[in-house]
Amino acid sequence: MADKDAVMKVKDIVNSDKSRRFVVVSAPGKRFSGDIKVTDLLYRCFEERDIPAAFDALFSKIRQRYTELVEDLKLTIDIKKYLDEVEDGIKKCGRADYAASRGEYLTARIMAEVLGMEFIDASKIIKFTVKGVFDADTTNDLVANTLSINKGAVIPGFYGEMPDGSIKTFTRGGSDFTGAIIARGVMADVYENWTDVDGFMTTDPRIVHNPVLIDTLSYEELRELSYMGASVLHPDSTFPLQGTHIPINIRNTFNPEAQGTYIVKDVAGRNGRLITGIAGRKGFTTILIKKSMMNAEVGFCRKVLSVLENYNISLEHMPTGIDTMSLIIPDSDLVGNVEFELIEKIRGRVNPDLIYVYKDISLLAIVGHGMSHQAGTAAKVFMALATADINVKMIDQGSSEINIIVGVSTADLEKAISVIYHAFF
Ligand code: ASP
Ligand code: MG
Repeated sequence: MADKDAVMKVKDIVNSDKSRRFVVVSAPGKRFSGDIKVTDLLYRCFEERDIPAAFDALFSKIRQRYTELVEDLKLTIDIKKYLDEVEDGIKKCGRADYAASRGEYLTARIMAEVLGMEFIDASKIIKFTVKGVFDADTTNDLVANTLSINKGAVIPGFYGEMPDGSIKTFTRGGSDFTGAIIARGVMADVYENWTDVDGFMTTDPRIVHNPVLIDTLSYEELRELSYMGASVLHPDSTFPLQGTHIPINIRNTFNPEAQGTYIVKDVAGRNGRLITGIAGRKGFTTILIKKSMMNAEVGFCRKVLSVLENYNISLEHMPTGIDTMSLIIPDSDLVGNVEFELIEKIRGRVNPDLIYVYKDISLLAIVGHGMSHQAGTAAKVFMALATADINVKMIDQGSSEINIIVGVSTADLEKAISVIYHAFF
């Protein structure tokens, strides 16, 4: 949605198939490298709301982008009125959410005119509970009832409304989530997610040149891959669709002929494909705890984990030996003094013989239903790593056999992804 050309492409796509009835839009992204996304500008406006000069400088950029877009598209919408309302609203709002949501709001207003469809505000149909948790049941009823009478509508992505009438956003990239909510509410035949790449790649194209495109993957595989760093679709996007058979189809706005990637509930027949994709994520720390006879000490794990819980830290993985356990924790949970305090608390709680901390750990996930009940996938992964002289620091594979997680030094991550990719594709 970055500029006039993109908007016109979207218009052609929607109009080329009459069954495309509900359109969820995101805010304008970057037009060129170095450009700033509208959502990021809005967050900054909120931060500077009490400093008039800084606020005005930022808001004028937003004003200019939307005004230009409306002029380029020769629309009749009174964009100034909406921009004034937003500018005023940001100065008055108490939370960043309202500000951040306005990129989608303004874009949806514009898109409604472009497509000749009704604008329906997400705040009317997408609801949160008092605690700020997405209220799936209420939302679903509202979406189903409101949209059943519509021939077509444009709905802004990324946000909904709290019981007190204030705006709340989802996490970044949350328009994908809104798309899934609307698809579920209207029981769509398909949730098409139009983006700027041809689909889901088997691995990160910044690491492997021109990786194979995944034609079909399952909801579960999508979650595993997106959680571990594949950024095409928000990892939560399948939640609203659980219990339905609505497929998600990732498509490229700039290459609409390409069929893209289908994300479906169950993948039948793997065509002999062992793995579906490989993803990697940087930024983990391992805390290794050693204590003789740990295995005999009932409740040892619980005590250690209760320390993490008190610090509201989420554990990623926990491989154990007879007298050792390793905690793999995202660095983002260990900022400031937390790491030091955590270690002191663990010492106090379980009196270990030793605690070591390893920094700069990265995790990679080798994901695919095809590997379950099949011998040889792990062998292939570790042979590729061994041949490239990459030291494995951690291994985790659950009994679902849908993924193998490998920990390596961050310095080795890209090479590890590349050699595993070439072993399978
Ligand atoms: N505009 C929001 C963001 O930048 C939501 C989205 O793009 O999906 O995160
Ligand atoms: Mg997106």
